[in-house]
Amino acid sequence: EQWAAAVAAVRSTGLDDEIQLICHVNPDGDALGSMLGFGLGLRRLGFTRVRATFPGDFAVPTPYQRLPGVDLLVPEADAFADPRLVLVFDVASESRLGALAGRLAAAPAGVVLDHHASNTGFGGVQLVDPQAAATSVVADGLLSRLGVPLDREIAECFYVALATDTGSFKFDMTTVSVHELAARLIATGLRPGEISRRIFDSKPFGAMKLTGEVLGRAVLEPAAAGGRGMVWTYATLADLERHAQPPYVLDTLIDPVRSVAEADVSVVVKQTAPGEWSVSLRSKGAVDVSGVAVSQGGGGHRLAAGFTGYGEPADVVDTVRRLLDEYLN
Ligand code: 5GP
Ligand code: MN
Ligand code: MN
Repeated sequence: EQWAAAVAAVRSTGLDDEIQLICHVNPDGDALGSMLGFGLGLRRLGFTRVRATFPGDFAVPTPYQRLPGVDLLVPEADAFADPRLVLVFDVASESRLGALAGRLAAAPAGVVLDHHASNTGFGGVQLVDPQAAATSVVADGLLSRLGVPLDREIAECFYVALATDTGSFKFDMTTVSVHELAARLIATGLRPGEISRRIFDSKPFGAMKLTGEVLGRAVLEPAAAGGRGMVWTYATLADLERHAQPPYVLDTLIDPVRSVAEADVSVVVKQTAPGEWSVSLRSKGAVDVSGVAVSQGGGGHRLAAGFTGYGEPADVVDTVRRLLDEYLN
């Protein structure tokens, strides 16, 4: 009945009413892909006043700047002040909406499309499916219920979202239905190889050098995480500056770190401001890292989660180590 309520929320909106789409701060491929793909779908339905935004710095990672529907994107300051309908994508908690949270609360109609197990249940109609591999799975479900056929542009957005959140179809939630959706998306004519190269394999040289430096200072603690091992590293704003790289290049740094065989848990601590760090946590299965993240005011999934930490990197890692010990004992 949540589907019916979401369809009704869209259908009760006039074609010239203002519709605001919002995804989470520091958007990733799923946040942007699910939001822009759905926005294109609304356009196909004839809605004329659709805008998409996210809170904070209006920095769209270079690989996403050529996503179809990117012309829907406006900085937070240009979002509709008083939209009729607000749709929220890939957001587990209101805090990830920053100052835009009020927009959702005040709107006559609101729909939250998400897939985080840690979703707090905020907002209006809840389309939250923790079994979904990406928010784009939920967005595709709603578009099809609205009678919008997939076209190549929508499909490209949803494909980027799906490929991002499944680690290019490698993670545990890469199910039959994920591949069935991927097949429907590819059937529109998109080119997976081309998209993957653009999204995942087009890093500036400086990003590689920065990655090399940050990986070079990684620490392995074989006895942490209940004896299953933890590996961690950190990156500072000075590191970014030295290599002239924007913060988003650190978003994928967790991938080589999490590949370490001796560690069940991996941690990357990324500076966002003096004394403030965005912490990425990954687990290979034994540990539910979302518990650790939620206890620190963050969120995520069982095997991939994050939170904001304070102090020095070593302080942040101490906290993670302590929480893991508590959790495992
Ligand atoms: P990542 O490490 O790739 O930034 O995030 C991994 C997962 O944890 C994602 O699903 C993301 O939504 C979630 N996550 C990361 N940081 C935070 C945070 O500060 N708050 C919340 N609620 N979730 C987070
Ligand atoms: Mn996301
Ligand atoms: Mn997601």
